[in-house]
Amino acid sequence: MAPAWIDTHCHLDAPEFDADRPAVLARAQAAGVGMQVLPAVMAANFDTVRQLAHAHGLAYALGIHPLSVDRSADADLDILADALDRHRNDPRLVAVGEIGLDFFVPGLDLARAERFYQAQLKLARAAGLPVILHVRRSADGLLKGLRRTPVPGGIVHAFNASQAQAEVFVGLGLRLGFGGAMTYDRALQIRRLAATLPGSSLVLETDAPDIPPHWLYRTAAQRDAGDATGRNEPAELPRIAATLAGLRGWTLEETAATTSANALAALPRLAALVSPARAG
Ligand SMILES: [Zn+2]
Repeated sequence: MAPAWIDTHCHLDAPEFDADRPAVLARAQAAGVGMQVLPAVMAANFDTVRQLAHAHGLAYALGIHPLSVDRSADADLDILADALDRHRNDPRLVAVGEIGLDFFVPGLDLARAERFYQAQLKLARAAGLPVILHVRRSADGLLKGLRRTPVPGGIVHAFNASQAQAEVFVGLGLRLGFGGAMTYDRALQIRRLAATLPGSSLVLETDAPDIPPHWLYRTAAQRDAGDATGRNEPAELPRIAATLAGLRGWTLEETAATTSANALAALPRLAALVSPARAG
């Protein structure tokens, strides 16, 4: 049997996919990517990710992304609370996300971002849902929030932090998401973590259309010259996974089995969506 992959982070609703979404989904299916988790980024796309998940047999998460906080109203937290309540019995709603903190992008209102992060952790806790976290130079801030408001696990997506911080997240019951970034030889730290962290802590993701693996990467000059393919898509997951397999000394089958089991452990509601009994 061909390995079944789970893309734990894909922005299938992004405008980059508007022109050919059915083809993107068909390629993912053909590549053996049997499940995708579609995180929301702001209240305006809550309905879109839910509808996409239902239309295509996928999963979704609801949350306000740290880079969307400055464009979101305080009332959007109420919209999130209401949506989590209304859809609490929706088996395709698997997490609160994408939430978190970003201390890399300049000019953000960080106090406001902290407030939104903390409020959304509380909503996840109240809903009994895991979280999907965005981290960029913000691991300690995220950890502080998790200690104050423990949640039922989840995933730190596109993980990029230190070994020590990775171990604390894992100790708190979170899994760490690895994707296109680890395909670059120069990404020494990320590759070292992917190679050495406990196998049970790793999940795979594309973050499509973002974080293209090295074979899709285009420089700004190439893009200006009209070569626009820097777009990542879920069908790339098995090839990205081959990088992880190489780093770990795993076979592709082991890689699929391990990372898929980890994804189900991180986002337990996925189990009912991928079990063969539910197919058809
Ligand atoms: Zn994302």
